[in-house]
Amino acid sequence: MSSLLLRGGWIVTQNAKREVVRGDVLVEDGRIAAVGEVRGGADESLDCADAVVLPGLINAHTHVANTLLRGLADDVPLEKMLEKAFAADALLTRRDVQIGALLGCVEMLKSGTTSFLDLFYWEDEVARAVREAGMRGFLAWTVLDKEYTTQRGVPVKNAAQFVRKHKAQRLVTPLVGLQGVYVCSEETYAAAKELAEGEDVKLHTHLSETRVEVYEHEKKTGMRPVEWLDKIGFLGPRLSAAHCVWVTIQEVRALAARGVAVAHCPVSNMKLASGGVAPLPEMFESGLAVGLATDSPLSNNGLDMFGDMKMCALLHKATRWDASVLPAQKVLDLATIDAAKAIGVDRDLGSVEVGKRADLVVVDFRRPHTTPFYPANLISHLVYSCRGGDVRATIVDGVVRVVNGRVLGIDEAEVLSRAQEVASELFG
Ligand SMILES: [Zn+2]
Repeated sequence: MSSLLLRGGWIVTQNAKREVVRGDVLVEDGRIAAVGEVRGGADESLDCADAVVLPGLINAHTHVANTLLRGLADDVPLEKMLEKAFAADALLTRRDVQIGALLGCVEMLKSGTTSFLDLFYWEDEVARAVREAGMRGFLAWTVLDKEYTTQRGVPVKNAAQFVRKHKAQRLVTPLVGLQGVYVCSEETYAAAKELAEGEDVKLHTHLSETRVEVYEHEKKTGMRPVEWLDKIGFLGPRLSAAHCVWVTIQEVRALAARGVAVAHCPVSNMKLASGGVAPLPEMFESGLAVGLATDSPLSNNGLDMFGDMKMCALLHKATRWDASVLPAQKVLDLATIDAAKAIGVDRDLGSVEVGKRADLVVVDFRRPHTTPFYPANLISHLVYSCRGGDVRATIVDGVVRVVNGRVLGIDEAEVLSRAQEVASELFG
């Protein structure tokens, strides 16, 4: 049995009472064994003085291999970005995807993200990167109509093969993904759902991201995307949907009634000028599970959840003319326990509690921008002051993956060089 002791920090537990306690966290065999004052030692220990220990951040929607496309489609709306993304995607080899994914994993681990939900094709390459980095990946193989895809073979068959091969792994959980109503027919949605039900895995899709998407879909079917997905029987508790920006209150209630979860991507929505703002307060009121997400490094352009927590809070305050909307505690929830709920893994992840998997982040508070700190402002600092670069250590499943800001087990310089080389050759 291996053990790890995080000694002497401020523990932001994110438990039901949202307790913050001063003390230690003991990890045994990948799970949290004790929280508070721990007597005795452990095989390995980390000094957490002047630091906050919190649950590993969970990114509820991204396309991690798109790190290679970073900075390739700035200052354009979604439709133009997708054109560029699909054209660039067509040039990538499996090896490129793996390098891009590994680069994304390094970036996430260093900025405190321990889990992410990814939507892409060639998720088997992303899975390889996830295992190499020792992160937790919820990986959705994208299904779309055959005429739109750059995948070889039939997308739903590719997804089936991926899901079957990657089930019951420790760090990789396969899902069935869909690009969105603009490239997926009713038959494609039905086939994806049948596959997910047959294999008992989750579903993930983009949904109602832009006004154009909603308008075009209404023109084609007479229904808004959420109404249409409800009519074809696609909505259900197995599904999490990214964006849901352009949704009416009736659609919010329909999503809630069907148990659909939402991945909120405020930075991506702002950068692509999606225009609307996802109605989070109404989603909370309706009881929807919502997780925070960065979306693609092409539309963000980073994977730093600390930056996105702050942006998320500011976006809703600014547009609602209400400074009390989305308080810091709620925003931190969106990146931890609520994101775990949105992915359906809150029994194991999302808080620092005995029995849960040990996905933990240690954030250094001995910094100019986090001084002064005391119990009453720790949560505020995490959301409004901290940056990914403040992460001192990251632990996934009880294994230390980042310490003193350095990634362990991966040659970071080598990953950066390879990514630089591939991208320069393709796009430089
Ligand atoms: Zn996306």
